[in-house]
Amino acid sequence: MNKQVTIVAVDGPSASGKSTVSRRTAQAVGFIYVDSGALYRGITWKCVKEGVDVKDAQAVTNLLIRMNMELFLRDNAVGYMIDGEDPGQEIRAEPVRERVADIAAQQAVRVYIVEKLRMMTKFGSLVMEGRDIGTVVFPDTPFKYYLDADPEERARRRAAEIHQQEGTHDVNAVLSSLRRRDQKDSSRATAPLQIALGAKIINSTGMTIDQVVDTIVTDLKKAGAVPA
Ligand code: C5P
Repeated sequence: MNKQVTIVAVDGPSASGKSTVSRRTAQAVGFIYVDSGALYRGITWKCVKEGVDVKDAQAVTNLLIRMNMELFLRDNAVGYMIDGEDPGQEIRAEPVRERVADIAAQQAVRVYIVEKLRMMTKFGSLVMEGRDIGTVVFPDTPFKYYLDADPEERARRRAAEIHQQEGTHDVNAVLSSLRRRDQKDSSRATAPLQIALGAKIINSTGMTIDQVVDTIVTDLKKAGAVPA
């Protein structure tokens, strides 16, 4: 790993507030924001587009060999194009949402994405959110956080997000979808969602976004990772 850069790893289950917290933390300390889940979603999007079965390891591996994922910096965040296309908000839609945990369970996909994520240090210091950032991608970083919230609270947050995007808001359906995905993410053989050794656990139920961001920024300042 490039010794000049600092990595802040933020892991946790779906809708634990990781995205907003990581984005705002990056802004507050002047680091680059990385949504690692967006890369898993991007590959899922490509599978859906090309009619590749996300559970077919060989077909997915073949797709990875022939496709090209290009990284770039945009608005202090790392973005990507797949074969010259930006999937945009399609990676948040139902076909991707329901398949992404199966893609994330494929060993070849994880190897491919972990390599991309490690390459991002070329852009500078990062706040990277995901499921395995502190355990697998950057296990040596001293700045690891595990963000959690009660399942009902997470379902309410995600339902509000989906409502904004799609106009539907069935909290119970969202709760069961989240639980299905959590179950797959925590029980898969490769890089399951786990609390990294040395990670600070933050349960954000009942906390505001600002309070969570503040907890992390204060911690980084105390450690001398960013100017006080
Ligand atoms: O964070 P987000 O909900 O967008 O992630 C989508 C999915 O990508 C997760 O449910 C998980 O299956 C997978 N993922 C992962 N490892 C990461 C980030 C996301 O397996 N570091």
